[in-house]
Amino acid sequence: MKTGFYNISVLYGASPRGTFKSGSAMMQLDVLENAYLIVVDGTIVELGTLDSEGLKSYTVSQSGEGSFKQSQFPSPESTINKSEADLKKDVEIFQSIEKTSSEKTPLKAEAGEMESKNLELSEIHWIDLQGAEIMPGLVDSHTHIVFAAPRHEEFALRIQGATYEEIAAAGGGILNSAKKLRIALEDQLFEDASARVKLMMQWGTTTLEIKSGYGLSVDSELKMLRVIKRLKSNFPIHIKATFLGAHAFPMEFKERREDYIDLILRDMLPQVVAEELADHIDVFCDEGFFTPEQTERILIKAEQYGLPAKIHGNELGLTGGVQVGVKHGAWSVDHLEHCSELEMELFKQTNGATIPVALPGTSYFLGIPFAPTRKMIDFGLPVALATDFNPGSSPVASLQTVCALACTQMKMMPQEAFHAVTCNAARALRMENEVGSLAVGMSADFLVMRSTDSVKTIPYYLGQNQVLHTYCKGRRVASSALNS
Ligand SMILES: [Zn+2]
Repeated sequence: MKTGFYNISVLYGASPRGTFKSGSAMMQLDVLENAYLIVVDGTIVELGTLDSEGLKSYTVSQSGEGSFKQSQFPSPESTINKSEADLKKDVEIFQSIEKTSSEKTPLKAEAGEMESKNLELSEIHWIDLQGAEIMPGLVDSHTHIVFAAPRHEEFALRIQGATYEEIAAAGGGILNSAKKLRIALEDQLFEDASARVKLMMQWGTTTLEIKSGYGLSVDSELKMLRVIKRLKSNFPIHIKATFLGAHAFPMEFKERREDYIDLILRDMLPQVVAEELADHIDVFCDEGFFTPEQTERILIKAEQYGLPAKIHGNELGLTGGVQVGVKHGAWSVDHLEHCSELEMELFKQTNGATIPVALPGTSYFLGIPFAPTRKMIDFGLPVALATDFNPGSSPVASLQTVCALACTQMKMMPQEAFHAVTCNAARALRMENEVGSLAVGMSADFLVMRSTDSVKTIPYYLGQNQVLHTYCKGRRVASSALNS
């Protein structure tokens, strides 16, 4: 199926395939104006501007001389001015993915007027985006959205002054989630997580990493990972799974921590690999959780299985997470609420092999320091941002909200935040050749935006969804209600 999108006032993220941006380059937006995009089987095969010389066959001029006239473009059913009822239906569109074909009208134009690189224009179904701006679908590289219950009781305790560590020591926190997850039914976990994925899609997420880590036993970790596997096959977006058995020490191993690590290495990891349930492994390397030495034991074993690493590090202090992550080629070290120049230098030496990922939702929600991303970017690092969506420390589904926090609290510029949730986040998953930018050969994941200057309005309109329609692999997979 060939689909064309035209009448795009600004296309953001028109960077070459494989791009991620470091330091001052994060301010540079790559844009096309008056753009079009052609998609075949979910992949971008062509994009450009309608009035560029090299694409004269596509030029829309007032006179129509030397090109086909504007009126020769189809006037398909609008993708923008849909009724409320239609929009509600659209949100469920991933359940009947073929539905989008009804909105397409073949282009009527004479053959000689339009030579397009190996594509017969007459075979293309064109969609008029009516002057909207588009940008790449957002990439959330760090979430924990499979969980059994919210933890708003702990939220209330924290308001009254309890710390995250105190709550964790009293059996709350991750262990509280683990207790509830162990008795939860797989179907219920899937249903609940599905609702969260739908919400995230409405807010523009088209690539999503999901971690296990509330199971903390062989059966429950596998249960979580199977739920993630089901999400992968039931949703049209890109989903990656991370095995996080080393999220915390379960109660029964509190006094014999090495035994729990043995359980991970001997029983969990081989099964996770055998059932192909994970794309990466993660370890919570921090004060009161896993030491750098324990983390290293796990990473060495994972390396033998060919499982790349991601690390939860330096949330609670300068605790060695960056050092052990960089040493073992982790694709990212995430959190970094504490990050000195020494750690920044280590990141820099990897030349983008290990991406620093900040999670401002967690800092905001727990009232802990924000990661020093201003300094990191000035230091030349390719910073990424993620939601860390989880029931205890960041019940934040929206990367748009994360961008707002990054700008107001961490003094990142809107352009920097944009790259941190698109191409740099893609790099944190080593998917920068597939998602995070709009270029030939990349997945056609893009967002139809509500306003102009949308890179700047995302962090500005805090809590207001700037995404009108979410497209993934060339098809509309979600829409947000109008007038919200
Ligand atoms: Zn996390």
